[in-house]
Amino acid sequence: MAKTVLVTGASSGIGEATAIYLAQAGYTVYGAARRTDKLQALAVYGIRPVTLDVTDDASMTGCIATIAREAGAVDVLVNNAGLGSYGALEDVPMAEAKNQIDINLFGTARLIQLVLPAMRKNKWGKIVNISSVGGKVGLPMGSWYHASKFAVEGLSDSLRNEVRPFGIDVIVIEPGGTKSEMISIGGNDLQRVSGKTVYKPQADRLVKMYDDIEKNAVEPVEIAKLIKKGIEARRPRARYVGGGMAGVMLFFRKILSDKLFDRLIISQMK
Ligand code: NDP
Repeated sequence: MAKTVLVTGASSGIGEATAIYLAQAGYTVYGAARRTDKLQALAVYGIRPVTLDVTDDASMTGCIATIAREAGAVDVLVNNAGLGSYGALEDVPMAEAKNQIDINLFGTARLIQLVLPAMRKNKWGKIVNISSVGGKVGLPMGSWYHASKFAVEGLSDSLRNEVRPFGIDVIVIEPGGTKSEMISIGGNDLQRVSGKTVYKPQADRLVKMYDDIEKNAVEPVEIAKLIKKGIEARRPRARYVGGGMAGVMLFFRKILSDKLFDRLIISQMK
């Protein structure tokens, strides 16, 4: 029987591409997000829409209950819903910071809690957490985004060996630049939050850097392919890397000292 997949953040970008790619590969796919009008458009691919707000516990519980009722259980959870909230740490209101952590970290963790009982019962499950190159590398003006993604990396490393005895794999995906709404949302955020403060010169340089990231960005289906590879591997790797400049960034992060890596980052912010 086809495995049931829940893809969060399926209303755009990587989540949408992943939902389509997996549906075309024969999986039973539930696509979840807040913008249900966008999800309805995916029905032509056989994707089942579910309303989900990962900052709302009742919404998360309801989403998993709906899938359990209709399909039995979530076999594969793709924790993709995410937000890139930017701005100098000094400028970002704490409410925005908390929202960032709520979406990228607590939403991810709560959904894992909700799908684990059925996965344990079935002695089979795949939890795919969409992190980022930004889960290994911190760029200026992105403290809360990077904090959230570094946390997703740590959570996943801890969880991987915790649930392995139950037949459940935890897989981290580390995308680099990928064409989606996120890069422009991040750029706009940066200008809104720090475009008029003492951090303006840095914000302007970063917006230019985002333009370069966007130029090198890959189509979201490339990340969808990585996710499918991870799900279908008999012994999946802990991490899969893909997308614009991802490999090169992580290579330099690995081989350079903190000091040299900082210089590299600053040299790119011109
Ligand atoms: P998009 O902005 O295109 O998609 C984000 C998705 O998350 C949307 O479908 C949105 O749906 C959903 N979402 C946001 N907030 C919530 C919420 N509170 N509840 C439920 N869903 C929510 O960005 P991407 O496709 O690029 O991002 C997907 C993931 O990939 C993120 O985790 C991001 O951090 C990661 N990533 C992206 C990179 C890139 O270059 N694009 C690089 C590295 C990582 P809706 O608004 O309808 O709820």
